[in-house]
Amino acid sequence: MSAMSSDRPVFDQALDAVLPILHDMKKSLRATPVANRAALDQLFSLPDSFLKKDPASPLVPVAPVAATAPVVATAPSPASKAAAAGDDGRLAKLAELKTKIIACTRCPHLVKSRTQVVYGVGNPFSELLFVGEAPGEEEDLRGEPFVGKAGQLLTKIIGAMDYTREEIFIANVLKCRPDMPAGEAGNRKPKPSEMATCLPWLREQIDLIRPKVIVALGLTAVEGLLGEPRTMREVRGKWLDYHGVPLMPTYHPAYLLRNQTMAEKRKVWEDMLLVLEKLGRPISSKQRGYFLEKGA
Ligand code: URA
Repeated sequence: MSAMSSDRPVFDQALDAVLPILHDMKKSLRATPVANRAALDQLFSLPDSFLKKDPASPLVPVAPVAATAPVVATAPSPASKAAAAGDDGRLAKLAELKTKIIACTRCPHLVKSRTQVVYGVGNPFSELLFVGEAPGEEEDLRGEPFVGKAGQLLTKIIGAMDYTREEIFIANVLKCRPDMPAGEAGNRKPKPSEMATCLPWLREQIDLIRPKVIVALGLTAVEGLLGEPRTMREVRGKWLDYHGVPLMPTYHPAYLLRNQTMAEKRKVWEDMLLVLEKLGRPISSKQRGYFLEKGA
């Protein structure tokens, strides 16, 4: 879907053709049609002028992603709000980049095994970027990073920081799910060569989004970004640099799920407090005390 304003009549015609079909599906299936996350992201990255309801082009809400997370086409996304405040052209550049990324064939073995490329999700104007290692099975199916168990914990951490997932940006160093040997279930770590092949895409996303802080989730993400292995003892909780952007390495949420001790949780939270301080965000005394009390 192109975001060029000269395409608007084509866009309107496409909508007019699609909406009656969606309404029919809704009636006959007795369920709301569900749009793929990547398609919704593309829709929300269109300039506001495309999304204004007018009599010639009745845009109606049709596409909740899931029962727990309804998303409607008329809701102003953080991207459209930021764009209204003065888009610097990055939405169009990111849309163009996304088109290239989701069609990537640089790793033929991953092209064969993947369901889809997992581009990333969130606010293209975000001051904060979380970077993980690679999509797992659920992310590969949903087309969105961090939607499985580890993702749910990450969403809680983001909430404790007083952000929503929509306000920040989340991506992975490797954008395709690492393939598994035949007959094997689960997820494997991305190889350094796979991450090195994919990294230029993330670099382009970072150059356009221009976050003020990057958080690397786990050592694999740190290695993928920096191009060399490091130890957690050496890097966790310390500011590194990624092409001029402050980089905070912390534990991967999957590690926290395996090691649910107060001490490990508190380490991640201390890293997040450093991130909030770096971003100049207000920190409440409740936030300062998180994970210190029993049962928190
Ligand atoms: N783990 C990651 O590193 N990334 C995801 O997207 C999901 C799990």
